[in-house]
Amino acid sequence: MLLKGRSESDELRSIRSLNTRMELSEKEKIHYLNLEKGYEGEIKFDLLAESLKGEKYIINDLLLEVNSSYFQIDTLILSQGVIHLLDIKNFQGDFYLESDKLYAVTTGREYKNPLDQLKRSATLFRQLLQNLKQNYLVEASIIFINPEFTLYQAPLDQPIILPTQVNRFLRDLNNSSYKLNDGHKKLAQKLISLHQTKNPFTVLPQYNYDQLQKGIYCKTCKSFLISRKNNDFVCGKCGGHEKIELAILRNVEEFKMLFPDRKITTQSIYEWCKVDLNKRTICRILKKNYTTYGNTRDTYYH
Ligand SMILES: [Zn+2]
Repeated sequence: MLLKGRSESDELRSIRSLNTRMELSEKEKIHYLNLEKGYEGEIKFDLLAESLKGEKYIINDLLLEVNSSYFQIDTLILSQGVIHLLDIKNFQGDFYLESDKLYAVTTGREYKNPLDQLKRSATLFRQLLQNLKQNYLVEASIIFINPEFTLYQAPLDQPIILPTQVNRFLRDLNNSSYKLNDGHKKLAQKLISLHQTKNPFTVLPQYNYDQLQKGIYCKTCKSFLISRKNNDFVCGKCGGHEKIELAILRNVEEFKMLFPDRKITTQSIYEWCKVDLNKRTICRILKKNYTTYGNTRDTYYH
């Protein structure tokens, strides 16, 4: 049973938006693409995990803190007596492990060894269980989900699930079906309640308001070439349509995310959207969808 789903992180949503509105450096771009790819892999695993049968609780995308240390769990599966912590990696291409380091075969570039991160998470999670006076076996594994991933010199004694082993891993989980009781449910709810929303690992490029391209871009192809047609915006590049109101709201949410300290006013959204609409329309959309604060001369929305 799925108790907590997954959604795109603020970091991914922010950097995706920045990538559309400014020129990212090469390094920032790689980071951005890694985030997209990582998320894509997690969603792929979620689809496979839907086939899990029997009584199990699945909690996705947990950010926990224990003794001031933060750690992330992509997928946690709670069954009787055992908690699986899964780290999903969507690496693609040929890699090899050598003296605890991970390298890409073609470029020789060194990557962070996901096993180190996994061990750290598992240790911290065991501490958390101890603090909660819970006694479970914790099994942590890395799932390499991409079918085009090869790992040479993969050690046999490490908790690595290769693409060719993912189905079997899920089958084995299916075969170990037991009853869950109230205690399991309480622990699952406790873990979800401990989820942290402010992620200290977030790395965003430096940006400021003036430097970003204003305007509404097509939600499908990201082109800024949009024009009005009745109640829609129409993309001049891909032909996609979006209701004006929905497009404005999407842009307000983007503005809020990138500039949490700026007030949402008719003027600020008018400047941000920079589109062929009068202020009255923007004002009406804000009034309808947000709560109004302040007096007439100084109205803002939240
Ligand atoms: Zn488009």
